[in-house]
Amino acid sequence: MKLEVEPAVSLQPFLPTEEQEQLRREIRAFAARELAPNVSAWDEAAEFPLAAVRQLGRLGLLGVLIPPEYGGAGLGYVDYVQAVEELSAVDGSIGITVAAHNSLGTNHIFIAGTEEQRRKYIPLLASGEWLAAWALTEPGSGSDAGGARATAVRKGGRYILNGTKTFITNGRYADVVVVIAVTEKGVGTHGLSAFIVEKGTKGFRPGRKENKLGLRASDTSELIFEDCEVPSENLLGAEGEGFVDAMRILDGGRISIAAMALGIARGALDAALKYVKERRQFGKAIAEFQGTQWKLADMATELDAARMLTLRAAVLKEAGRKVTRESAMAKLFAGETAVKICNEAVQLFGGYGFIKDYPVEKYYRDVKVCTIGEGTSEIQRMVIAREILKLQPSRG
Ligand SMILES: Cc1cc2nc3c(=O)[nH]c(=O)nc-3n(C[C@H](O)[C@H](O)[C@H](O)COP(=O)(O)OP(=O)(O)OC[C@H]3O[C@@H](n4cnc5c(N)ncnc54)[C@H](O)[C@@H]3O)c2cc1C
Repeated sequence: MKLEVEPAVSLQPFLPTEEQEQLRREIRAFAARELAPNVSAWDEAAEFPLAAVRQLGRLGLLGVLIPPEYGGAGLGYVDYVQAVEELSAVDGSIGITVAAHNSLGTNHIFIAGTEEQRRKYIPLLASGEWLAAWALTEPGSGSDAGGARATAVRKGGRYILNGTKTFITNGRYADVVVVIAVTEKGVGTHGLSAFIVEKGTKGFRPGRKENKLGLRASDTSELIFEDCEVPSENLLGAEGEGFVDAMRILDGGRISIAAMALGIARGALDAALKYVKERRQFGKAIAEFQGTQWKLADMATELDAARMLTLRAAVLKEAGRKVTRESAMAKLFAGETAVKICNEAVQLFGGYGFIKDYPVEKYYRDVKVCTIGEGTSEIQRMVIAREILKLQPSRG
C-alpha cells in the first residue's frame, strides 16, 4: 500500500537519518563528558555554567535553527527537539538556557528583523559569542501577556523604555535582549512593539536573580528599564506588531519546552529503570513486582505519546505550517506527562528518591517549570480550545 503523505510531513522523525543519529551521539557524548559531572554542584550553588554555555556555541547548539549564511547550523525543528531533549536529559538548566537563546531571543530577531539587524546580531548569537534573552513577562502580566505595562515612547530618533520585566531566562548574562513594550495605549495588543536592547545600554540593568525550586543553574532575572534610550533602528518588526510576532515566536518556543519535558522525563525514567533492577526488597529486585512493572510501562508509553505530539509539531513547523494548536498540544501534554513521570520515578526510589545522592529529586524539581514557562498548562488549553472552536482572542 502506498502511503499518502506529503514529503515534508513524512515518517522520517520515527526513522532518524544517519545525520540525526550522529548529532544525537555527539550531544550525548558532550553532555556525559562536560555536563554530567558538574550538574549537582551547579544546582547546589545555583551557578550559571557560562563556560559550558560557550562550549555549546562551539558545537553549533546556539544557532541550531539559523541558516549557515548567518553563521548557524542550518538544522530544522526535529533536530532542535533532539538537541534540547538530549541536553535536558542530563541537565534541564542547560535545556532552558539553550531554548530561550535559540527559539525565543535569536529566533525573534531572525524572523522579524530587517536584513541589517540580522547581519548585525545573528552571526554573534548563532556562534554563541553573544547570548540572547527574550522579555515579555512582567510582575503584573504573565498569562495575560498583552496586559504589559512597560512603555516605549518615541522621542526623535530614539525610543525611551521604562518598566520592569520579570522571570527572564538568561536575563543577567544576555548580551542582547528582545523586549516587548507598549508604544500606543488603548489599542490592546496592537499597541505593543518589540525592541532589541544591548547589554550596557544606559538605563538598562538586571534586577534580582530569582532563587528557584528547580533549574537552579539557569539564570532567571528581573530586568529594569529606567529612561533607557534605544535607537529607533532597534525597533524589531513593525511598530504595533510586537505582540503578534511574540505569539508567533511562542508557537516555535513551546516545541522546545515540550522537548525539555521529554528530556527531563527520560532522564528520570532511565534512572528508575536502572534502580529497580538493583534495589531488593522481600528477597527480590523491586523490578520483579507487577506494581513496579505497570508503573514503568505507563511511564514509557506516556513518554512516547508525548514525543510523538512533539515531533508532529516539529515536523509541521519545519514544513512551514502554522502550529499554534499543535505546539500548544505538545507542550501541554509533554509538560503534564513529564511531571507525572518524574513523580513516579521518585516514588520508585522510595526514601532514596527524596535525597540528593540520587538524580531523581532534581528531575522532580526541574520538571515543574514545563507546565508553567511559555504559557501555563491552563493557557495551552485556552489556546487549543480557541483553535478548535475558532474563537477570537479576548484581547486586542
Ligand atoms: C524558570 C522560568 C523561566 C521563565 N523564562 C521567561 C522568559 O525567558 N521570558 C519571559 O517573558 N517569561 C519567562 N517566564 C515567565 C513565564 O512565562 C510566566 O511565569 C508564565 O507565563 C505564567 O505567568 P505568571 O507567572 O504571571 O502566572 P499568572 O499569569 O499569574 O498565573 C497564575 C495562575 O493562574 C492561572 N491563570 C491565569 N489566567 C488564567 C485563565 N484565563 N484561565 C485559567 N487559569 C488562568 C495560570 O494558569 C496559573 O495557574 C519564565 C518563568 C519561569 C518560572
